Amino acid sequence: MNAIQIDDLTKYYGKTRGIEHIDLTVPQGGFFGFIGPNGAGKSTTIRTLLGLIRQNGGRAQILGLDTIKDREKILARVGYLPSEVSFYPGMRVKELLKLSASLRRRDCRKISGLLCERLQLDTTRKVEELSFGNRRKTAIVCALQHEPDLLILDEPTSGLDPLMQREFFEILKERNKEGTTVFLSSHILSEIQHNCTQAAMIRNGTIIARGSMAELSGTGAKRISVRGSVDLGTLIGVRDLHSTPENVDFLYTGDMNDLLQTLSAGDIQDITVTEPNLDEVFLHYYGQGSGRI
Ligand code: ADP
Repeated sequence: MNAIQIDDLTKYYGKTRGIEHIDLTVPQGGFFGFIGPNGAGKSTTIRTLLGLIRQNGGRAQILGLDTIKDREKILARVGYLPSEVSFYPGMRVKELLKLSASLRRRDCRKISGLLCERLQLDTTRKVEELSFGNRRKTAIVCALQHEPDLLILDEPTSGLDPLMQREFFEILKERNKEGTTVFLSSHILSEIQHNCTQAAMIRNGTIIARGSMAELSGTGAKRISVRGSVDLGTLIGVRDLHSTPENVDFLYTGDMNDLLQTLSAGDIQDITVTEPNLDEVFLHYYGQGSGRI
């Protein structure tokens, strides 16, 4: 059984496309990244997946349960962090955490205390007085304190400072080692690249790539950096990265012999050939124009 199984999921908001024909599988125990720019359809996928909005087509299962029929059972087993957090005003953080635990009929005091300490969250503050980052920390504790089997986190790190982001990912990694499945959406590639083992990329409502981090990074493209001058001219399979008059820097998916011939006609002081990082792979998929090399 997969933690998440999405088949042909489509959601339109009236005439506006949210997502279209999404297929996605997240194995139990996975640490899965869902990458895409703003407006790509990440939140729509997540909200449909949790049964918070109703799809127009397709189906999804969480932990073997149907997202429409078994919505209540699913919500009891999932820790969800929404992309936009809002709380009832007038409550203190500790009251809110207690309420959130009681809704799940759990005594979460010990774990909640540990999480608040690690995230440096002052639980005596009123929720309406919290900064954006502290509101996010409160939502993180709400999502994690009942130790759910599956964490669905929608852009969880926005508003957290770098130290807190690190601590947050430490907590997630510990949970994941203990068997919790993590599904995390983000538009920040580096955090997906450094923390997730598998990922899917979404663009304009559809999945454009998926696989292990190694597979996604290995699109077959090489990153070529040349110091000196060379005219790439009509060479096929080139995507310029950030070349200057002294350095030519590009992703290459073409024929290596063609590349060597082209380079040998130039005046080259140095050359390095490396695997592209995920940022560059992202550019390969998301870049303006052709989209693919
Ligand atoms: P992401 O989470 O990747 O930023 P969203 O899922 O929020 O993307 O949005 C996907 C698309 O659906 C966008 O074009 C967005 O404008 C549209 N959309 C999202 N929510 C609504 C809504 N409540 N009403 C109408 N359109 C929406």
